[in-house]
Parts: sequence; C-alpha cells; structure tokens
Amino acid sequence: MKDLFSNSDDTEVSALSQHWNAVIERLGNEYDERWMLRFVRPLRPAGQTGDKVLIDVPSQFTLDWVRNRLQDTIEQFLSDEIGRPISIELRKVQGGRDTVPSNESVVITPSAPSNQPSFIPNPNYRFDNFVVGQSNRMAHGGAQAVANDPGGQFNPLVIYGRSGMGKTHLLHSIANEMRRHRPNVRVEYLTAQVFAEEFVIALQTNKIDAFRRRIRSAEVWLVDDIQMVLGKDKTQEEIFHTFNFLQQSGRQMVFTADRPPSELFVMNDRLRSRLEAGLVTDIRLPDTETRIAILNTKAQSKGIELSFEVALAIAEAIQDDVRHLEGALTTVAAEASLSGQPITLDLVQPVLARSYSRQRPKPNMNLIITVVGRAEDITPEEIVGDSRRAPIVMARHISMYIQRRITGDSWKHIGKQFGGRDHTSVLHAVQKIDAMIAADPAFAAKVAWLTQLVTDGPDLSRQPGPVRG
Ligand code: ADP
Ligand code: MG
Repeated sequence: MKDLFSNSDDTEVSALSQHWNAVIERLGNEYDERWMLRFVRPLRPAGQTGDKVLIDVPSQFTLDWVRNRLQDTIEQFLSDEIGRPISIELRKVQGGRDTVPSNESVVITPSAPSNQPSFIPNPNYRFDNFVVGQSNRMAHGGAQAVANDPGGQFNPLVIYGRSGMGKTHLLHSIANEMRRHRPNVRVEYLTAQVFAEEFVIALQTNKIDAFRRRIRSAEVWLVDDIQMVLGKDKTQEEIFHTFNFLQQSGRQMVFTADRPPSELFVMNDRLRSRLEAGLVTDIRLPDTETRIAILNTKAQSKGIELSFEVALAIAEAIQDDVRHLEGALTTVAAEASLSGQPITLDLVQPVLARSYSRQRPKPNMNLIITVVGRAEDITPEEIVGDSRRAPIVMARHISMYIQRRITGDSWKHIGKQFGGRDHTSVLHAVQKIDAMIAADPAFAAKVAWLTQLVTDGPDLSRQPGPVRG
C-alpha cells in the first residue's frame, strides 16, 4: 500500500529503521522486558514525511497504551536520534490482533500535563544585590547576557568555582530576572543531585514520560552543581540527551560546577565536551574590597548598621567562603542586639577571635601532606618520596588530589612540590582519585573528610584519625 508516509527511498527507510533500533535500545534500558515485548517490540516504523514518522501498531489496545504512556518518550528519543523535533503518528494495522491477556491487567493512566509552573527562585538572590568584582566579573556578565537574551550567544553558559562563591546566587538571579521581564518563559532549575534523584524515581514509578516532558519544556534550563552526577552513568546519559534536545530547540542552558568542565574526569565524554564548548567562566575568591562590598550589601538587606572599620575587620578575618562572611555578620549582629551595644570594633573582635581564632592556616602542600600523612600513618617525607608501596602511593595521590581541588595550583606546580614529578603524573593521579570517588562512596567520604580537615585547619595536636583504607 502506498500512501503519504510510505517512503520509496530505500536509504531513508533504512536510516529510519536504524534510528528506530537506537530508540528501542534506549527504551530497553528503562522498561521491563515484559513491557518491551508486549508493547514496544511489536511497533514498526512505516515511513517518514518531513518531521512526522508513522508507526504501525498491531492493536487498538497497544495503540492506546503507547499513546498514553510512551508517545512523548518515543518522540523525544527519535528527535534525539534524527537531530530535530519529530512527532509520531500511531496507526493501527488492519487485521492486527489485540494481544492483551486478560489476567494481567495494565492500568492506563494519562501522563501529567507539561504546563507546570516555572521554578520559583529565591527572591534574595538577584543581580542587583550581587557584588561584582574582579573575581566574578565574567561569570556575572555571562549570566546577565543569558537573562537578557536566552538561547542567544552564550549557550550553554558554564560557571565554575569553589563552594560559597555565588554560583547558585547567579542562577537564581537569572530566574528572577526572567520572572520580571519575561514571565511567560518557562525556567527550570535543578541541582544535578535532585535531577538524578527525580530521574531514578521517575524510572521506578513509570513517570519518565512526565519527567521528560517537564524538563524538556524548559526554555531556560539551570543545572546547579553538575559535578554531583559524576559516576552516575544513566543520569549523565539522560542529561546528555536532554542537552541535545534543548540545544536543537534553541533553549538556553546554564550549568555550574565546582571545577572546570575539563576536569570533570569521570563524566560521559560527550557531555563533558558539550560543556567545554560553551562559554566557560569561573568565579574566584573575592578580594578584600569585594568582600567588604558583599558584607555591606548583606548588612543593608538585614537592616544592620556596619561601619567601614568593622566591615574591614570581618573581611580580613574571613577570606575563604562568602557564606562564612554572612555567618560572622549574623553572629556579630546578634551579639550586639543581645548586649544592647552598637556594632563596634571592640564588640566584633572577640566574636571574630572566638569563631575564627584557630587562625586557619591557608591550605598549602605542607599542610595537606601532614594531614593526609597523619590519617594514613605515613610520614610527609614518604608521601613526596619515591616509594612505590601501595599505601604510600595512594596517600600521595590523595594529597595531590586535595591540593588541586582546594588550591587550584597548576599541575606543574603540584608536580614540582611533590618531589619534582612531571605534570602528567599529577593529572593521572587526580583522574584516578576522581574515578575512585565516583565508584566508591566510602572512599569518597574519606577524601571529603580529609579535605575538610585540611580546609578547616586541623588541630595538629590530635591523634591520627581513625579512618583507614
Ligand atoms: P555557591 O553556589 O557558589 O556555593 P552561593 O551562591 O550559595 O555559592 O553563595 C553563598 C552565599 O554568598 C549566598 O548567600 C550569596 O548570596 C553570597 N554571595 C556570594 N557571592 C556574592 C556576591 N558576589 N555578592 C553578593 N552575595 C554573594
Ligand atoms: Mg551552590
């Protein structure tokens, strides 16, 4: 039978059946084989006209089932494969039999509608109260450009930097800006952690269709802390396909990470290279001037009076994380109001001394090998030495890893400090530790603990830590 859809061009038909096989394979990763056999494998792509693909279905029951449960996903997967938005038309084949056994009932529930409201950002995270300095100028500029022209020049935008540098603040600023000026544009914000969790739940509860529809209806997609999906292969795969879908439709994407995309080592190569191809900007530690300005902004919003000398004292005492600056401000304000005194230097100094007196040593290589060595019962000399004994090599690699992550020192510099090793051996060590962290939660917890010890400034008089292995 020849109709609108039957395609005489054999190569196109075989291209379509290749795309179809890829779709079946992806569906097979997600759906129980029983369902695949009953509902999916009997489907046949019959032809393609433009952006529409005709699918033959053996029975009315299957047709209804697919329409209600699977159509969106099939369309999305086909679009992923073909590279542009594709819709499908289901056609019941004449003479097809209904093959539903009566004893195993299948409940048909229509998927949730996709017109859910946009994400509601934190109203306190706005561009107008984000202090711009040398450390964050590019990231801030990129975020503003995206808010003014979503899907424009900078897509995706990637912002990376350590914790407490204002990445989440910038993502919410974009969403707030959109709400103000383009309230009809649908914005979706998720931390990558939440994405992973929702994705798994959607798979388990057969709501993957609704999940995809929701995410893919975003016109601006904000993904916070993408490093949280390291080691989660299926989630990365889903993000990769979502990325492609949204990019083909010209939607804006913004990602944040705690490290540059090039260092997301245990990530799907294709996803990583997509991120690397975007506008990649970093946020570094703000300088003293910027920290003072941030303190003043926060003080103003909380109705706290802050003199310059007090702001300076706090900004100089706390240099690591903007969150800690805010914490100190809150403590100082509470102290003042409880004691009924104004916020003076005399009041502030003891507070700063109390909370931050362990005058945290700035993390450096010596501190790191001391901390790691203590925990692992290995001397710092052994760590930087030449021994190939496994526990020593491991301690060496962990130390290099921590140094890279928290100081951002160059591969070369770290190699030099670790007994004159070349930069590739540092790179490999960090890659290896990343892979181990992704594969082994206990190991990840141990490295996190060591890192915490280093950044908190350890109490070096303590006994070596209990964690081993
Ligand atoms: P990250 O996501 O990078 O860990 P956040 O965006 O959560 O950091 O920022 C931590 C806190 O510091 C927030 O309260 C945020 O408002 C504040 N902050 C960070 N950078 C700035 C800045 N440049 N101007 C104003 N506030 C900032
Ligand atoms: Mg954040």
